[in-house]
Amino acid sequence: MIKLTPILLAILYAVAMYRVSVWRTGRELDSKSTELADPKLKRLTDRLAVALDLARIPVYIYEIDPVNGLAAPDGRIFITRGFYRKFQNGDVTGEELSSVIAHELGHVALGHSRRRMIDFSGQNALRTALMMILGRFIPFVGAWIANILTTLLAAGLSRSDEYEADAYAAALLTKAGIGVEPQKSLFRKLDALTQQRAGMAPAWLMSHPKTEQRIAALEKLEARWTAPS
Ligand SMILES: [Zn+2]
Repeated sequence: MIKLTPILLAILYAVAMYRVSVWRTGRELDSKSTELADPKLKRLTDRLAVALDLARIPVYIYEIDPVNGLAAPDGRIFITRGFYRKFQNGDVTGEELSSVIAHELGHVALGHSRRRMIDFSGQNALRTALMMILGRFIPFVGAWIANILTTLLAAGLSRSDEYEADAYAAALLTKAGIGVEPQKSLFRKLDALTQQRAGMAPAWLMSHPKTEQRIAALEKLEARWTAPS
């Protein structure tokens, strides 16, 4: 029992950290967001809602500048003010913005947003727990291995999440009659934006795999869906 105590403490610490960060994120989002009321976008999100058999899909504006979309652990979808401004300026079309909403819906539907919370805020706790466990069996090197394992796990998880959310969005957009094209054109636009301002990649793109690979994955899906059976 005594030998297990540090491990139990590490697990308790991880659970507590997770709870606190979910609560903190929720509070931050509540204080800096309002529900989006844009007739043109609503027409598009209503089409997604019909495809999903839902009454409507509420989307919230998060009052920050970086171009980003996010899915909160409670399942709410947020578009940043910066991203919405790009739509208002005509840099991004409504269909393209709805592809972001579809992608974030994918993260919610597939349960990624909760897991991601663990990625972001529980990584340290996981590292601590692994260090304690590994450190018992492999002195000195254990901590180093724990570090690498945690980083690899987090990176691998988030990359596969992105491809899964893209595929979900592609299916949903196809069903809603919007199609996959806006998804691809948005990737290209955001990529061009990144080239223009070297090192100033839009946040939404930064947390995601390489644009070309994402477009290629979408085209593979399209080919499969349109192939005669
Ligand atoms: Zn994503």
